Amino acid sequence: MNDIARTGDFTPEHTGTEKLEAFWMPFTANRQFKAAPRLIQRAEGMYYYTPDGRQVLDAQAGLWCVNAGHCRTPIVQAIAQAAGSLDFAPTFQMGHPMAFELAERLVALAGKPFNHVFFCNSGSEAVDSALKIALAYHRVRGEGQRTRFIGRERGYHGVGFGGISVGGIVGNRKMFGTMLPGVDHLPQTWNLKEQAFSRGQPQWGAHLADELERIVALHDASTIAAVIVEPVAGSAGVLVPPVGYLERLREITAKHGILLIFDEVITGFGRIGKPFGFQQLGVTPDLYTVAKGINSGTVPMGGVFAREGIYEAFMQGPQTAIEFAHGYTYSAHPLACAAALACLDVYRDEGLLTRAGELAGYWEDALHSLRGLPHVIDIRNIGLMGAVELAPRPGAAGARAFDVHVKAFFEENLLVRFTGDILALSPPLIVEKAQIDRIVDGLRRVLSKLD
Ligand code: PLP
Repeated sequence: MNDIARTGDFTPEHTGTEKLEAFWMPFTANRQFKAAPRLIQRAEGMYYYTPDGRQVLDAQAGLWCVNAGHCRTPIVQAIAQAAGSLDFAPTFQMGHPMAFELAERLVALAGKPFNHVFFCNSGSEAVDSALKIALAYHRVRGEGQRTRFIGRERGYHGVGFGGISVGGIVGNRKMFGTMLPGVDHLPQTWNLKEQAFSRGQPQWGAHLADELERIVALHDASTIAAVIVEPVAGSAGVLVPPVGYLERLREITAKHGILLIFDEVITGFGRIGKPFGFQQLGVTPDLYTVAKGINSGTVPMGGVFAREGIYEAFMQGPQTAIEFAHGYTYSAHPLACAAALACLDVYRDEGLLTRAGELAGYWEDALHSLRGLPHVIDIRNIGLMGAVELAPRPGAAGARAFDVHVKAFFEENLLVRFTGDILALSPPLIVEKAQIDRIVDGLRRVLSKLD
């Protein structure tokens, strides 16, 4: 543990560049950050607190994950209790009760046709696990030639080789060679001319799903294992699916015996109005991934839900055979399970998994009140997700949104995520209307002065 974490001492001598140097920060402009750090020391409810004592309203739920709010007592206590009574237990050929209890509760929340869940430790692992389940599922049914995956441009599926292969964010792919072979991509669904300032699902764009027929015709359906998309693309800047689009993907995949995987790492656990995004959007995939909100971001955990028939297809051969040769040391880690069980209680007791639906109208009106401010070219929203897209500065893509992020943090005490020139918003699901106002008013002040 370093000095800062151990002592909580963020005084200038402890936050000098020499103290910040060793940590190779993920998805961060390291040199820029270390020259002017933005540090967080503790958290509670809707807020982060900086080392100099500022209270910062968290408008991004940590990283799309702290759905129950920060440091919730029941979750903290459950983690502490597990750490003191069952620090670790293997789930390879052994089991501990919390893993089974959690799986039962999760499939009950998912509802039919989902009846099994596989555990891992992150969204990236969930995606890799789902892709492997898809491949192996076809193989155990005698269709081992189905090896291709179809992802989508601007999709984000984490950073494993599987995830970046089916993902469609060029910056996350270009450094890493050829990745998985046999992957093709659907076109992305956002179109400024046709969809700008849509409220909820845009009316235009369902036909973009028909591109799947072209891709299927090119490769032949018999070679394709699965199509994977985020129901709402999050990391690329909240790209809401056009009305009818997911339904069309579902029809085409079903017709060709291709599995449909939804990556619900962001949309899972209440983000868009129902416990899971597919329930809100009314389209049921074959497999879906979760992470983040599964335990409100407290202990790394992810999972893959499988519909009826998938797990069962593996249950063949000798009773002693391991049916699916896949898993992680920390699959269903006791601390993660304890956190998730306590978190599900909080979600249930406080109605948080449907709260985004209740606040969606207020959130939408608040965000769209920023229309007309300088450089704002689009505003998008669904549930408690939202994005404000800015025109890029000529020759300096991303600089404008970065400025907003920095100014919001230091001048408005607001934590707002940016991706390219898009501000992405996803407050904890405990957010109050007055806090939504604060987020939007703070952004209004920053955007009004933005060059
Ligand atoms: N899939 C989606 C849709 C995500 O948004 C993310 C992370 O933001 C991931 C996968 C990867 O999750 P993790 O960072 O936990 O590996």
